[in-house]
Amino acid sequence: MIFWRKVWDARAAKRAYALPVYPVSTIFVHHGATMAPLNLEDADGDGIPDNEEAIWRSYQRYHMDTRGWSDIAYNFGVGQSGTILAGRGWKKQGGATGSPEDRKSLSICAIGNFEKQQPTDEMVDAIVGWIKKGIKNGHITPNPIIKGHKDKPYGTSCPGQNLYAKLPAIREAVAPKEPTEEAVLAQIKGLRSKIKVLRAPIKVLKARIASLYEQINDTP
Ligand SMILES: [Zn+2]
Repeated sequence: MIFWRKVWDARAAKRAYALPVYPVSTIFVHHGATMAPLNLEDADGDGIPDNEEAIWRSYQRYHMDTRGWSDIAYNFGVGQSGTILAGRGWKKQGGATGSPEDRKSLSICAIGNFEKQQPTDEMVDAIVGWIKKGIKNGHITPNPIIKGHKDKPYGTSCPGQNLYAKLPAIREAVAPKEPTEEAVLAQIKGLRSKIKVLRAPIKVLKARIASLYEQINDTP
């Protein structure tokens, strides 16, 4: 489930830029490197586990106040609970790699330290689900490239070895599936009946032409 900025009391961005390349064809997976064990306690009752919300807000504070950036760097966050948190959101340029690739990609930051922790199935499923939703809604091109931050030569361990190890499964789950034999046969059957329908008026036209020729030939 997605929680937009007002739910987690995001501060307003100082500046925002539209992604110049849109829809994007690349997704970067990051982690925040803060230990965040699964804890569903939600004292303020807003639906977001308190520890995930507190850490997410701390990232925005750190990025804006310490690093001097315009906003939290990531487009989206995801917790161990499977909760999705809006960062800059869709259509906005992020700053998570600090490279020109930010201009044509979206970033998803996993809340936790996955060099040490294991990501939950809920977290992995949420990443897959969110990317699929992005494809369905036209924010991401079909069959996108899904990278870990450490795939780029930045000298980072992000998103941590344990989450990095899940990227092949995430790619596999997002990739378009080969249609089954049944689906292909059904499609052929449908096309055949369409051809039949299209052939009917051609038959009529052919007969009409033949009779016109006859008339011409009969004319003295
Ligand atoms: Zn990163």
